[in-house]
Amino acid sequence: MRIDIITALPSLLDSYFNDSILRRAQQKGLAEVHIHDLRSFSEDKHKRVDDYPFGGGAGMVMSIPPIHKAITWLKSERDYDEVLYMSPDGELLDQPMVNRMSSMGNLILLCGHYKGVDERVREHLITREISIGNYVLSGGELPAAVLSDALIRLIPGVLGDETSALSDSFQDGLVAPPAYTRPEEFSGWKVPEVLMSGHAAKIQEWRHQQSVERTRERRPGLLGENDQG
Ligand code: SAH
Repeated sequence: MRIDIITALPSLLDSYFNDSILRRAQQKGLAEVHIHDLRSFSEDKHKRVDDYPFGGGAGMVMSIPPIHKAITWLKSERDYDEVLYMSPDGELLDQPMVNRMSSMGNLILLCGHYKGVDERVREHLITREISIGNYVLSGGELPAAVLSDALIRLIPGVLGDETSALSDSFQDGLVAPPAYTRPEEFSGWKVPEVLMSGHAAKIQEWRHQQSVERTRERRPGLLGENDQG
């Protein structure tokens, strides 16, 4: 998978992709993340990428030309499955959506800022819009990093233990069961006995029950029951 992120603030993303699992994924050649500075596509002499809103009102709007230039250049180099715009009013990101997208080859992610981008960018250049939740952040960089991380960790070989992504929350429509490690007892707080029994089938059964109970309590919507939110 190759992800090209277009941003007016590339330094916000550098450290995230140059560390931990995402760095290893790139070193192993399993994923490529390229961060592009939108300002380098600006033909304005001050390298501006935004302008005042027509009709007045507060906040600047990101203008079409630099975004158009960046996307056109990337598309001339290779084919893309989607040109995504991170936006609070986009499709809400969830695990099934991440799973479906994880088999894609090349993606462009556009990060907005200020009041967002000129609507014509969304109409003519973007193929899909994604939100990471019903709240507003000051830029699309964190959402782009969230989406990239969720996608890249699903690529086979990226996580050390091949099965661990499958046992995470939401993968089987349930949240994850509780996990414990040493010490077996800490100031009177004990680990559930079944986990110390060595009985694999019982442990599996207990974990499944815990997942179902937790899902009922915390995410009843996943079980098709009435969700609070
Ligand atoms: N005026 C816009 C908000 C702009 S926030 C509105 O009310 O919808 C600035 C940028 O941050 C957006 O262009 C988008 O790229 C990003 N952003 C903010 N919150 C986001 C969220 N929940 N999901 C995805 N992107 C978000």
